[in-house]
Amino acid sequence: MSTSIHYQISFEQTNAHLFNITLDIPVHSPKSLKISLPSWIPGSYMVRDFAKNIVNIAAFQQQKPIELTALDKQSWQLNTQGKASQIQYQVYAFDTSVRTAYLDNTRGFFNGTSVFLQVEGFEESKQLVSLIKPDLDWKVATGLKRSSATPKYHFGEYYADNYAELIDCPVEITDFTAVEFEVAGTPHHLILSGKQYADLARVKQDLTKLCQHHIDLFEKETGGKPPFSEYWFLTNILPSGFGGLEHKNSTALLCSTFDFPNINKPDELSEGYKTFLSLVSHEYFHNWNVCRIKPEEFVPYRLNRESYTKQLWAFEGITSYYDDLSLFRTGIISFEDYLKLKSQTISRVNRGKGQLKQNLIESSFYTWTKFYQQGPDAVNNIVSYYTKGSLLALWLDLTVRKATNATKSLDDVMRALWADFVDKGADYKGTQLDTIINIVNSLILSGTTASDAHSTHIRETFYQLLNNKAPIPLAELLADFGVELKQVPSKAASLLETSSDAHSPYLGFMFKESKLGIEVMQVLEDSPAEKAGISVQDNIIAIDNIVVSKANFANVVNNLALNHDYTVSYIRNGELFNSVIQLSDAVNELSQMTVIDAEKAKSWQAIV
Ligand SMILES: [Zn+2]
Repeated sequence: MSTSIHYQISFEQTNAHLFNITLDIPVHSPKSLKISLPSWIPGSYMVRDFAKNIVNIAAFQQQKPIELTALDKQSWQLNTQGKASQIQYQVYAFDTSVRTAYLDNTRGFFNGTSVFLQVEGFEESKQLVSLIKPDLDWKVATGLKRSSATPKYHFGEYYADNYAELIDCPVEITDFTAVEFEVAGTPHHLILSGKQYADLARVKQDLTKLCQHHIDLFEKETGGKPPFSEYWFLTNILPSGFGGLEHKNSTALLCSTFDFPNINKPDELSEGYKTFLSLVSHEYFHNWNVCRIKPEEFVPYRLNRESYTKQLWAFEGITSYYDDLSLFRTGIISFEDYLKLKSQTISRVNRGKGQLKQNLIESSFYTWTKFYQQGPDAVNNIVSYYTKGSLLALWLDLTVRKATNATKSLDDVMRALWADFVDKGADYKGTQLDTIINIVNSLILSGTTASDAHSTHIRETFYQLLNNKAPIPLAELLADFGVELKQVPSKAASLLETSSDAHSPYLGFMFKESKLGIEVMQVLEDSPAEKAGISVQDNIIAIDNIVVSKANFANVVNNLALNHDYTVSYIRNGELFNSVIQLSDAVNELSQMTVIDAEKAKSWQAIV
């Protein structure tokens, strides 16, 4: 008698974007079973109600229909009397994001959370998956285990040891390009679906360096092998797109055709390619930090409703700190380039007033409704646990280095978290809010001459930084490492670019190109734009009666005088309005980091 449950998926209905699925449940003891679909996917903290895409669900025993009773939006009761049963259903899949599922005549992709109904009582059983080959020239890439009869990249039989593993292995099916490489003796696969003109030898070389860096960081004292036997980068390429979702032996990535290195320009390191490498580095770091080391609230994941944690600043913030830092540490970018990226992060955190209204703990806790469901007010009213969390990680790294005379670093904190995970094995209970600072304290007190009072001071400061609604003070600490942090004005036309002009007027809004004038995307609190009554989604068509566009906007405002009344004309909800706007002098709002003492900077750069 089989104890495993068996899913079969076919992909013929590409034009209707429907997966056809049958689920076979073997003979079992209970008289009835509850079946359900998760409402969210680990790594993306928003209730997405995946079950809303289920169509035509029905249950059978020996081909005869049996009753399936709906319990709520995502679960059903099945009265089986313990007999073998089959459920048939379809899943509508037409979302290009990395979080759900997609099917058309060019490509199929799915996360298990979108397609595999969970059967209560069978969560720990073996989960078999048959992928039925459509009449198309497609291949398969997934972190699911292959049965011995299924060669790599082929349709056929796959399996997972339990339901948690099943839904942690997304599946990419199309006519993709596969690039194989080994890191630390472990096979890695870069799967590229979609149009690209990449210098693949270069991509392979850079990915190898980044993966090796992370393995070295975590596995320095644990054998130098990653915690998986093979790894898959499932990369979907669209003309424009960005996203990533981490899993235990794979990641689903979304990037742009032009994020890859141009084969005709071997010396160029484009912004797009830096962004792609940083994304890869980020998701790969998650293999340890969040896929295995987790907040206690995620051990185990409860996927039927929101799961609140106060610790995302650590799991996303520290991961974000290392994603760019590892580009420098592997020699892909210079330290000056690294400081530019980090300066942009500081500028982003400081740009709006969000960090004065929300602390890092609240930012983590309310991710479900605030970070993942951002309204146009986000820049003014919330702070990101990614960006501000990465600044707290920077503070932690430099604080540990300073207190230990650069003999320890945040790397040692990560290794201690990892050692705890490895030691506890099946008894691992996850991290608590004070786990990291406890490790920092013990690192500082062992092997250095630091006093208890100093260690207590660091602990108190850390809690203030977590709880305060204020910027993280970094200038003094950075100065100890030979880096000057100063504030510089931004350009009038782009709040993210520094201006070297003496005349640098400030309006305080972000915009994009529009058919008519420019469309406002964000308005900063207390800015000249807000005072003039400009709002998100307004189309500004003229300033001082000069018709504006994205192309001439900088030229127009740079010719205007400061603190002088000008008419601004804009369209809101189909009506034309005129208002008065005054340009103010640029506020010093962008951060810029510069090395002023190269010798001191080495104690930040060193891998210890
Ligand atoms: Zn992340």
